[in-house]
Amino acid sequence: MTSPFRQRDGELHVESVAATRIAEQFGTPTYVYSRAYFENRYRRLLDAFGDRPPAIRYAVKANSNLAVLDLFARLGSGFDIVSGGELERVLQAGGDPARIVFSGVGKTGEELDFALKLPIECFNVESEAEFDRLIEHAGRLGRTAPISIRVNPDIDANTHPYISTGLKENKFGVPVGLALRLYRRAHVTPELEITGIDCHIGSQIADLKPLMDALETLLSMVDTLAAEAIEIRHIDLGGGLGVRYRNEPDFDVEAYAAAIRKRLADRPLQLMLEPGRFLVANGGILLTRVEYLKPASAPEQRNFAIVDAAMNDLIRPTLYQAWHDVERVADASDATETRWDLVGPICESGDFLCRDRPLRLAAGDLLCVRSAGAYGFAQSSNYNSRNRAAEVLVDGDASYLIRRRETPRDQLALESVLPADPAATRSLPKDAGGR
Ligand SMILES: *Cc1c(COP(=O)(O)O)cnc(C)c1O
Repeated sequence: MTSPFRQRDGELHVESVAATRIAEQFGTPTYVYSRAYFENRYRRLLDAFGDRPPAIRYAVKANSNLAVLDLFARLGSGFDIVSGGELERVLQAGGDPARIVFSGVGKTGEELDFALKLPIECFNVESEAEFDRLIEHAGRLGRTAPISIRVNPDIDANTHPYISTGLKENKFGVPVGLALRLYRRAHVTPELEITGIDCHIGSQIADLKPLMDALETLLSMVDTLAAEAIEIRHIDLGGGLGVRYRNEPDFDVEAYAAAIRKRLADRPLQLMLEPGRFLVANGGILLTRVEYLKPASAPEQRNFAIVDAAMNDLIRPTLYQAWHDVERVADASDATETRWDLVGPICESGDFLCRDRPLRLAAGDLLCVRSAGAYGFAQSSNYNSRNRAAEVLVDGDASYLIRRRETPRDQLALESVLPADPAATRSLPKDAGGR
């Protein structure tokens, strides 16, 4: 599909709504998402598989706003969660527990109980210790825990080291040999029911090869287990499908689907996928306004444009050296093009959204940071006691505030000063600088 973020009549629109109008109504910084984009991506992935549709389990951590979860639940999507907090969100958004898979290396006893009681579709077990704990908790609750072992196939996904998860040096999943032993144990453990097998080798993966290699590893395990009369019903290849941020080719889902279909053709296995970024990254932007220009005053200095969004709003450039396209929302300024570092107000030199970008800027300009729909708001924080941004979802010519901007009162609500000591006076101790 064409992008829902398009320049029209000299200014950027999100579907049919002018971005300047959104900024006027809701302020900045604000995340803006396109409903049509999210739905189109979901359908595109599903349609690529034709008459053998995968069970899509949207990875909640990419963008966990309730309205976004609601939208995917309405499309029939299930969810891949990694915490009790995400489980609460999915339930609140109307997600079906029978379509929830629970991943993550550190599930607490409390989280296991919460999910066991619902019950959810399956636990993606990431260690032998978790496996043992799950048996104990299921036994205590008188439940049977559906499980899939997350296999670490030791495959290099050729991505940024912080988002590579399928190498043996990574903390995720268990090696093939141990996974097979756990399946044999599970087979004779009444508290467990084997439902599937899974892996997730990394994020922002560009080519098919590592994903297909992972599929081969899982299929040969399925065969090994079948020979021992241990049946696997679903095969979960995780997420990781890459998207275009700069000039990378968009992930070829049609080729991916065709290759998987070919390999699964003569097998009764249900395919499961856990995409996050692929569904939402390019369906979101971050609107921010230029507060100050601080041009270089000497040749060795840089030109800084200080904007009202910062690393607490969008940490990807700082954390992963990630690229985000930046453009002016309206083409009004007659400034000459200069290479700017877009920086926020935070007291860190790592606080930048992009560096050395040729832009025509004036103070007060409204800017659009592209590709901010995944791992944007979800990774935001209150660092420097900044209120987290608002989130808006556009649907045709309507825009909905799906998370209001935080206030200082929201931030302080959970904290308290020390209890009052009735004997103490409230006078300040003397110090060198006291008045
Ligand atoms: C993060 C994650 C995903 C989603 O990854 P994307 O790259 O956003 O598709 C899927 N599964 C698991 C277990 C994850 O941790």
